Amino acid sequence: MPKALRLVPKTVLLALVAGCSAGTPAPAPPAPTPGPAPSAAGVAKAAGATNGVSPAYRLEIPEFISRAVARGTRTTTGVPGPNYWQQYARYRLEAELNPVLKRLTGRGRVVYFNRSPDSLPVVYVQAYQNLFRPDAKRNMQTPKLGGIDFDKVVAGGKPLSEVAKPGEPGYTVNGTIMEIRLPSALAAGDSLVLDFEWQFRVQSETAPRGGQDGEVWFISYWYPQMAVYDDYNGWQIDQYLGRGEFYMGYADYDVKLTVPTGWIMDATGSLENAAEVLSPQTRTRLDSARTTTGIVHVVTEKDKADSVVTTRGTGGKLTWHWTAKNVRDFDWGTSPRYLWDAARAVTDSANGTVTASSVASAFYRPEGVRSYWDEATRYGRHAVEFYSHKLWSFPYPHMTPMDGPDGCGGMEFPMLTCIGGTYDSLTMYEVVSHEIGHSWFPMMVGSDEKRYAWMDEGFTQYDQSQAMADFFKGFDDEARNRNYYLRGAEAGYEEDMMKPADKYSNDASYGVAAYWKPATVLVALREILGRPTFEKAFQEYGRRWTGKHPTPWDFWNTFDDVTGQDLSWFWKEWFYETWKLDQALDTVRTEGDSVAIVLENRGRIIMPVPLAITREGGAVEYAQVPVDVWFSGERRYTYRVGGKPKVTRVEVDPHHALPEIDRSAKIWPRGSELRQRDNTPEVRRRRR
Ligand SMILES: [Zn+2]
Repeated sequence: MPKALRLVPKTVLLALVAGCSAGTPAPAPPAPTPGPAPSAAGVAKAAGATNGVSPAYRLEIPEFISRAVARGTRTTTGVPGPNYWQQYARYRLEAELNPVLKRLTGRGRVVYFNRSPDSLPVVYVQAYQNLFRPDAKRNMQTPKLGGIDFDKVVAGGKPLSEVAKPGEPGYTVNGTIMEIRLPSALAAGDSLVLDFEWQFRVQSETAPRGGQDGEVWFISYWYPQMAVYDDYNGWQIDQYLGRGEFYMGYADYDVKLTVPTGWIMDATGSLENAAEVLSPQTRTRLDSARTTTGIVHVVTEKDKADSVVTTRGTGGKLTWHWTAKNVRDFDWGTSPRYLWDAARAVTDSANGTVTASSVASAFYRPEGVRSYWDEATRYGRHAVEFYSHKLWSFPYPHMTPMDGPDGCGGMEFPMLTCIGGTYDSLTMYEVVSHEIGHSWFPMMVGSDEKRYAWMDEGFTQYDQSQAMADFFKGFDDEARNRNYYLRGAEAGYEEDMMKPADKYSNDASYGVAAYWKPATVLVALREILGRPTFEKAFQEYGRRWTGKHPTPWDFWNTFDDVTGQDLSWFWKEWFYETWKLDQALDTVRTEGDSVAIVLENRGRIIMPVPLAITREGGAVEYAQVPVDVWFSGERRYTYRVGGKPKVTRVEVDPHHALPEIDRSAKIWPRGSELRQRDNTPEVRRRRR
């Protein structure tokens, strides 16, 4: 979801302003000295070794993960296990949108493939639209125009009715989850055919993540979608309450959507009947966008006035046919008012030759130019190309930000983003690049956003910062994230990152835990590992888990595996705790022919200590004090370096890459006077 500034309390927003201008640009990061590298980290962990880490910093493995490892579906190295499995589905859906009644009516068939080793007497289906029932449980404000009505539910050819009696075949709808008790259990390796007919009122523009404002229609969470049954939860049937997002399985889609003639549409997947719905002119322009390097205006205001955008259809309607393979959802947007820009995005190349490409598009209303929608194609193309290069190649046929109802804020979908609200050029790039970043996490790497929001939002926030630094040369979005986290924590909005999204006390705490802190923690990890090692591990995690369902332990184990380090202390203290980092430079003194740099760990977080040591003449040496100096609970550590040439300056965290709660007492010489200021009750309180 959104890179929602509205989630952030005012105090934190103020910090953002400071964050943008604060921070002296640090020198280019050198290759850090390698940290401690306990060999055979995976082996040590598997054997329950602790490597001298005090119990407070030990990462406990929950039973459901140990069980998955024992069954061979997951491993202690973060590679999917030899017995890894996941369910699959094939959806064939048809829907018609009636814009006068504001109703969607749909029908469809789901073939559900049980690849688990379990027999399933019951299956679960998402009924997300029930978030909008007047009596729904929810943790955000929404319109209450009603939920989804099922007119027909058929399992294996047998019509089912809503039942109250346990044990009998039938279905019951509890909030946003439908339970279907099957006439006969779905055996391991077998498949099930479900048929549905349904309808609902399309929500108004204040609904989250889709709806209509009378002009644009963004249709999401609109069909009965199978809940996820996986190897570590079984059925994951947490209710959709509003804040917490989604956990979706991979599937193929074949979808026919009927809307009025003259409206244009974009959707997840490929348009199969372009010749039936798009005019020859529109098709020619779209084709040219695939091959030229410029931005093509596929549909202009004049084209709309001349009614030359679509074909004529029948009875004032057109049916658009879409297909998509191996995606976790299918969504669509449509409007009579949209303009359409498109450009080729290069997603892979070799020796200067393009080897793969996609189409970056934007659909927007003419007045959207005030929010830089006429730049959205260029922004989107940059984001797709940047992430393709930085992470791995974007595999889908198109990526389309769509101008949506206000309530969308910014919301990601496979191959689409719905963006509502007003923006300047910086925030428009920000929201476009953020939502497109979600194509990697969670669209490709399909984690559970409800239980582990940071694997989706935190990673995307981190990626967005990389894209922004590239697009707005030198823009320090990482400093912004860090300020949001630190100021949020200071204001009492920090709760641990391992809570399900719906369990946070408020939206601000969710914002810190899902966005700002994890993005910041990744930067800190990159600083202590070195950028090449960090990026190698991050990419390897993606490579291993694309199209699959990773857990936090798969992410952590992959990092331990790829780096050859046991980082469990890091995962424990940053992800499970709300401790603070405060590493101070106590004093620097000459001892014989060497120099003693006395460090003090004043917070509960333990970390390696990156140092920059400047010598007479200006040469700067970078060093990293390994984390294990703190393992036994020591609060002070003396790091020694040679005394010649004379040491003139020492700085802790010279790249300002770590989320230090207190930035005083980081530089010598100036330490002595700062130390006193640094010991005020205010600072002591913050350090806890
Ligand atoms: Zn997001």
